[in-house]
Amino acid sequence: MSTRNSERELIISTVRKFVEKEVMPVASAMEHANEYPHALVEQMKEMGLFGLNVPEEHGGVGVDATTLAMIFEELSRGWLGLAGVIGTHSVMCDVVVKFGTEEQKRRFLPGMASGEKRGGICLTEANAGTDLQNITTAATRDGDAYRVNGAKMWITNARHGSTFLLLARTDPAAQPAHRGMSAFIFEKGAPGMTVSRDIDKLGYKGVETCELHFDNFPIPVDNLVGGVEGEGFKQVMTGLEAERLNVAARGLGIARAAFEEAIRYAQRRVTFGKPIAQYQTIQNKLADMATHIEASRLLIYSAAEKRDRGERCDLEAGMAKLFATETAAEVSFEAMRILGANGYSKDFPVERYYRDAPLVVIGGGTNELQRLIIAKNLLKKYKDKT
Ligand SMILES: Cc1cc2nc3c(=O)[nH]c(=O)nc-3n(C[C@H](O)[C@H](O)[C@H](O)COP(=O)(O)OP(=O)(O)OC[C@H]3O[C@@H](n4cnc5c(N)ncnc54)[C@H](O)[C@@H]3O)c2cc1C
Repeated sequence: MSTRNSERELIISTVRKFVEKEVMPVASAMEHANEYPHALVEQMKEMGLFGLNVPEEHGGVGVDATTLAMIFEELSRGWLGLAGVIGTHSVMCDVVVKFGTEEQKRRFLPGMASGEKRGGICLTEANAGTDLQNITTAATRDGDAYRVNGAKMWITNARHGSTFLLLARTDPAAQPAHRGMSAFIFEKGAPGMTVSRDIDKLGYKGVETCELHFDNFPIPVDNLVGGVEGEGFKQVMTGLEAERLNVAARGLGIARAAFEEAIRYAQRRVTFGKPIAQYQTIQNKLADMATHIEASRLLIYSAAEKRDRGERCDLEAGMAKLFATETAAEVSFEAMRILGANGYSKDFPVERYYRDAPLVVIGGGTNELQRLIIAKNLLKKYKDKT
């Protein structure tokens, strides 16, 4: 899939205008109030942002991975929580597009693309995050349905969303465990699934992240992704490759927002008779921030282009995710230093960027995990054959 340059420019400038006009003026106040952005979500639906990676034949926009990354950068520059509403939703779309049966695509994708059916991914459990093979949530066949029992933690979009991708064990005895795991699409409605708690978070507010309980919750057999058991772990891992890129782009958006605030402030704030931007100490910071941001952008585009060529990009997406999100954490802290006390104040957005950045370091596979993925792929690529 590749998006024409003119089409890409139009999409990006539309999203940028939306962010600057509608999101930036309200983001900090809504984030501080932990208010769900209902009106902005409606506008995002109208703009087609829920169907970005859904092909046109199924009602989506069908943009390529590079354009998708650019859109995530723009949204996160305004408000990470808002980008979160389409973040895991787009991972779910990716899995259904790649692995769903034709009937599942027809049944789910148009609603997912319009945002009428929106949600995310239910993978993590209290005792299984990085080590996803340790999940215990089970789906047991019972006639025309599977009965799900267990609990999921940290599920973004769980309260306001309606449609989710679930990873569960269908063969608890399978060895290795991942061979006994299957992925399902489920919709809220039937009894047996409760959103039991909204987790109180450091940042990434506005969008909700919840704990879910399943008690004999029925999922129709027809909702088993691809119609085959035992493929779920592989399907989900492919989706997580896409997620690494969108999380990297979200890191880039936070870093850019923090840098833009810092360089503007540095030219206005005067100490000892000069704007602080004229001191070499501050210039060094700005130079390092901008260089890391540009390097993050190039790593993201390089990984996205490889994905657009239809190749796996685990190594490149891992590097992009690692570098761009560490950059988000560093740059938001450097911006806070440049703003001095104002950086620590809720009157300026930098404290929000600083609180949001750790989510992109931890979510989408921790950066410790990214290093393991990078090293594994490097050892494969540079295998010593002597
Ligand atoms: C705000 C937020 C939203 C989220 N949204 C979702 C969502 O929508 N859906 C979903 O399924 N999950 C979601 N998650 C969960 C997220 O994916 C996990 O938190 C993440 O994968 C890490 O898992 P964990 O928290 O269990 O940490 P653990 O796996 O317990 O890791 C703890 C520490 O040990 C390190 N570690 C673990 N194993 C290794 C190893 N082998 N080698 C080296 N270091 C290791 C980790 O890097 C980390 O530093 C969300 C998390 C957050 C914070």
